[in-house]
Amino acid sequence: MRRMRVQVAVALLVAVMSVAAPASAGPDRLLSDTRHLAREHPEIWTGATIARGDQAMLVVAQGAPAGTVTLREIEKAQRAVAAVWGPVQVVVLVPASTVQAAVLAAPAAVEGMAALADIDHVIIEPTGFARLSPVGRQVVLTHELTHVATGAAGSADMAMWLVEGFADYVGYLHSGLTVPTIAAELAEEVESGNIPTELPDRTDFHAGSPRLPQAYEEAWLACRYIAEHYGQDRLVTLYRQARRLGTEAALRDILGRTTTELTQAWRAYLAQQLRP
Ligand SMILES: [Zn+2]
Repeated sequence: MRRMRVQVAVALLVAVMSVAAPASAGPDRLLSDTRHLAREHPEIWTGATIARGDQAMLVVAQGAPAGTVTLREIEKAQRAVAAVWGPVQVVVLVPASTVQAAVLAAPAAVEGMAALADIDHVIIEPTGFARLSPVGRQVVLTHELTHVATGAAGSADMAMWLVEGFADYVGYLHSGLTVPTIAAELAEEVESGNIPTELPDRTDFHAGSPRLPQAYEEAWLACRYIAEHYGQDRLVTLYRQARRLGTEAALRDILGRTTTELTQAWRAYLAQQLRP
């Protein structure tokens, strides 16, 4: 059994090695990241198809639905992230099934997800991803690539509303979708007079949370408010500072506000944006 796994890993590595490296000099981090990821699960990646872009590697498992994600979509998402945050390199993994996605994502849950970001790669949940519209696919890819670019997987101390809200801010920026469309669940609550009193916290973003869509919408609108009111650059600076100092200190330094003050302004913004 063990020997077989090693042979399988070697076969895959030959496939990875045969992918042409980019013209740029220096260590090929994309290739080494891909090899590392492939070695962890040879049972999933044997016979995988690999496509290389300038700054992206797309690895599609044998048996994955054809055209689940294209390199073109990944590169469009990379440009969207680069325009706000900066360049991002990424390996995108497309397993053949939800079960395989769950193996790759563990201990994170994949239930109800279309894709997940880890430190240097994105895992596509092929069943969830296939349900998305073309615009939805682009939003999700951009969202997850923002997480990779900002190192979200290593930012356990940051406020979740900022981590998820920022990823959605970049994700929806050029989607052409309107606020009531994006924040449909929250709009329904606000229209009936229920304006949330607190920014969403970590537990609100757990899989299976009863107000999960609203938590994302609330976080997105908090970041959108900051970008509209202070400018996008300040939102980016806030995020960078929050990674170093924590969210509360960054809010004080960059916006001159406490979380309580921001929450008040955000609630007024929700009412203004979502009430007919
Ligand atoms: Zn996210």
